[in-house]
Amino acid sequence: MQALQAFQNLLLDPKRVMITGHASPDADALGSALALAAYLDKKGHQVQVISPTDYPQFLHWMHGHQKVLVFNDGNEKKSASIISEADLIFCLDFSSLNRIDKMGALVRDASAIKVVIDHHTGKEDFADYEFWDTKAAATCELLYQLMVDLDDRSLIDKPMAECLYAGIMTDTGSFRHPNTTQHVHEVVADLISLGADTSKVSKLVYDNNSLDRLRFIGFALSERLVVLPKYKTAYFAISAEDLKRFNSRTGDTEGLVNYALSIEGITMAAIIIDRNEGVKMSFRSIGDFAVNELANKHFEGGGHKNAAGGISKLTLEETVDKFLKLLPLYKSQLDKNQIEKEKS
Ligand code: 5GP
Ligand code: MN
Repeated sequence: MQALQAFQNLLLDPKRVMITGHASPDADALGSALALAAYLDKKGHQVQVISPTDYPQFLHWMHGHQKVLVFNDGNEKKSASIISEADLIFCLDFSSLNRIDKMGALVRDASAIKVVIDHHTGKEDFADYEFWDTKAAATCELLYQLMVDLDDRSLIDKPMAECLYAGIMTDTGSFRHPNTTQHVHEVVADLISLGADTSKVSKLVYDNNSLDRLRFIGFALSERLVVLPKYKTAYFAISAEDLKRFNSRTGDTEGLVNYALSIEGITMAAIIIDRNEGVKMSFRSIGDFAVNELANKHFEGGGHKNAAGGISKLTLEETVDKFLKLLPLYKSQLDKNQIEKEKS
C-alpha cells in the first residue's frame, strides 16, 4: 500500500517517460504499453513507447501504435538518448532485462526510476517499483487494476479498454487457459462497460490472416508436424527456407504451436524455428508439466508453467536433436497427463 502511495506521488508532476515491452511484442506487451502511454499522456507526462523489435500486422489497429519507436529499425541512437534522459522507465510484460535484447543494458544503466508491471516468473532485481504477480493472466489485467487502485478508472477510454482487452484475450487463449480467473472475467466485464468492442478486437486479432499465412499453416501441419505418442509430445521444426517460401512476416508463426497441443493425448508441444538471430523455441503444455523449467534449464529461456520460450545457438537440426534427447528424461512427467476426461 505504501508503495502504491509513493508511486501515486511520483505521477503528480510531469515526467519524461519511456515505456517498453519485451522483444517480439505480443498483444499483451504492446496493448499494455499503449494503454499505459495513453493514461500517462492524459496525466500530463511526456511519453515515448520504444519496442525492441517489430510487431505483427494484426496489432496495427491499436491506438497510438504509429508513435511507437522500433529500436532495431535504425532507431538505436535516438532510443539511447530517450532512455538516458527519461525520469521514469516502465518495463511491461517482462521482468528480466535480457527480454529486451540490446536495450537491456541501456535500461540497466539509465538513471531513471524503473517500474516493472509483469506476470512472468524469473524476475530480476532491477526495478524501484514492482507490480508483479505471476498469478495474473496478463500484464493488461495488472495495469487495469493499477489504474483502478490509483483512482483513475475514469481515465480508461474505449481505445485503452480495447488495448487492455486484447492483451487479456490473447494471454488467456480467448478465456480457455487455466489462468482465466473470476477476476479476469470481472476485469473484462468492466472493460466492456468502459466501451471495449470485444467482437471487433477478436476479429482484428484473429481474422486478419494473409493468404500466405494460411497456406503456411497448412504446409506446417501437413509437412512439418511430428507427433511422438511415446512421449506425449508434438513439435514443428521450421527452417528459414520454409519461412521464405511463404513470405513469412512477423507474427505469422504465432499460435501455430497450439495446434500441436490440441492433439488428443498430448502433454507438451513445441515449435522450433530457424530465425536470423538464432533458433527460437516456443513450448506449450497442459497440466502440471512445467515448460518454463525445461526452457530455462536447456534453452536459456523461461515464461509460464504452460507457455514458455527459449533460444538455441545450435543449428536447427542440432536443436531438434537436443530437444529429442531430453524427452526420455522427462518421460514420467510427460506421462502424467493431468486433464482427465469427464465421465459422461
Ligand atoms: P511465446 O511462445 O508465445 O513466444 O512465449 C510464451 C511465453 O514464454 C511468453 O510468456 C513469453 O514471454 C515467454 N518467452 C518466450 N520466449 C522467451 C525467451 O526466450 N526467454 C524467456 N525468459 N521467456 C520467453
Ligand atoms: Mn503477457
